[in-house]
Amino acid sequence: MQQKPQPARADPDIPARLASIVGEAQVLTSEDDVAPYCREPRDLWHGRPAAVVRPATTGEVSAILAFAHAARVAIVPQGGNTGLVGAQVPDESGAEVVLSLERMRAIRDIDPDGATMIAEAGAVLEELHAAAEEAGLFFPLSLGAQGSCRIGGNIATNAGGTGVLAYGNTRDLVLGLEVVLADGRVWNGLRRLRKDNTGYDLKHLFIGSEGTLGVVTAAALRLFPAPKGRAVAIAATQSPAEALTLFRRFSAAAGANLTGFELMPRIGMEFIVKHLEGARDPLGDAYPWYALIEISSGRSEEEAASLMQATLEEAFEAEELLDAALATSLAQASEFWRMRHGLSEVQRPEGGSIKHDVSVPVAKVPEFLERASAAVTERIAGARPVPFGHLGDGNIHFNVSQPVGADKAAFLARWDEVAAIVHGIVMELSGSISAEHGIGRLKRELLKEVKSEVELDMMRAIKRAFDPNNILSPGRML
Ligand SMILES: Cc1cc2nc3c(=O)[nH]c(=O)nc-3n(C[C@H](O)[C@H](O)[C@H](O)COP(=O)(O)OP(=O)(O)OC[C@H]3O[C@@H](n4cnc5c(N)ncnc54)[C@H](O)[C@@H]3O)c2cc1C
Repeated sequence: MQQKPQPARADPDIPARLASIVGEAQVLTSEDDVAPYCREPRDLWHGRPAAVVRPATTGEVSAILAFAHAARVAIVPQGGNTGLVGAQVPDESGAEVVLSLERMRAIRDIDPDGATMIAEAGAVLEELHAAAEEAGLFFPLSLGAQGSCRIGGNIATNAGGTGVLAYGNTRDLVLGLEVVLADGRVWNGLRRLRKDNTGYDLKHLFIGSEGTLGVVTAAALRLFPAPKGRAVAIAATQSPAEALTLFRRFSAAAGANLTGFELMPRIGMEFIVKHLEGARDPLGDAYPWYALIEISSGRSEEEAASLMQATLEEAFEAEELLDAALATSLAQASEFWRMRHGLSEVQRPEGGSIKHDVSVPVAKVPEFLERASAAVTERIAGARPVPFGHLGDGNIHFNVSQPVGADKAAFLARWDEVAAIVHGIVMELSGSISAEHGIGRLKRELLKEVKSEVELDMMRAIKRAFDPNNILSPGRML
């Protein structure tokens, strides 16, 4: 049986009903007030909400959902509004309510002995980093949007980022959750246990559910010993295949201490130098590909640096790299990472960019890059592939910038055509059409093509069981 969508209702009483729960000041309806909640980073969707509601407690979230469930009002949870698939912004119906978690940002507790932290959904990722550091610990989730994205959004998207190689996805960092269900009931699953085999592990259903199954209000998170030293280098290679060989060498040398291995093409470096304020080419000459490598040490800076130095030398002797620069200070190490994180934004001044967030088995990354780049440039002469990302996870952001001087709108109008080519190659290589950003509205139709009927049936059954009135983010993902 298919999920039966409920009609969207633009009920004029909605703001007043919400105000009776959270107070008038926390229900926004004017065009100016709601505007920031309706624009998303890529400016692809433009919606308008019935209201934006900003609860401060789990109890208020519960009352809002109980009302919405009974009145069949659509609710779209929103954290930092940095999501890249259009799931967190309202649609054009004017009937959806954006439920912003931004006021629920308390860090309820840190347990240094158990290395856990309980944080509310609206806590900004960077605030969690700071709080963990203050307790002498480390929270490893790290992404370009960390100054704005919130942990509830990270959980709802199962965010990846640059720490996945050593610490896993967000899924691997969550021990327990507090969730308000679609009908308003609260599930307190804030357990801090590493071992708990008492039936279905329900938290995993909410992680990566993109707001379609429940509203996450708090999470118990895993913390780690803070590394005592880090060494960061940028190495140049001739090709992605050579970068992969280099990755294997570093993986073998550093094991779990290899905490970053990011691939960047020359064109990306050119964009960085051109558009990222203060950035300079880290190596004297231009090279076809670059790997940003990070090694951490639980003992000292010196240990990290000497392992990095020795492994770079071995790789150089084995002719696996062309050149390398090892950061000689913390400031330079941060600068290397700033350049990597800046890669998303420096594509903007170059005009339209058609983006793909894909993964393939790690060994297939070079083949994927070669085939996808050739196919795309054959279809659109002058198109400029800017593929970069987490080589060690097989996750490439295969972005394609418009030809120089081309019409931006005309180029972007070819998004589906280009995506079909890229995703076709991804599927042939047994990869995924969404490695970290999710499905949302951007890839909803695509999901039907890449999942089997059996898998889609199971997903729909879960959605029906958790949200029978289909009020949570309707039309997203499924
Ligand atoms: C510059 C930049 C770099 C990025 N880099 C990465 C990267 O490296 N890796 C990566 O994975 N992503 C990346 N992203 C995407 C984005 O930052 C992540 O998806 C992030 O986890 C979203 O968090 P948010 O708080 O902004 O969520 P939002 O954008 O507000 O919401 C995202 C989704 O989560 C749902 N949601 C939000 N809060 C809750 C909640 N409390 N309960 C239930 N559902 C909720 C929303 O409904 C929506 O479906 C990047 C984005 C930008 C702009």
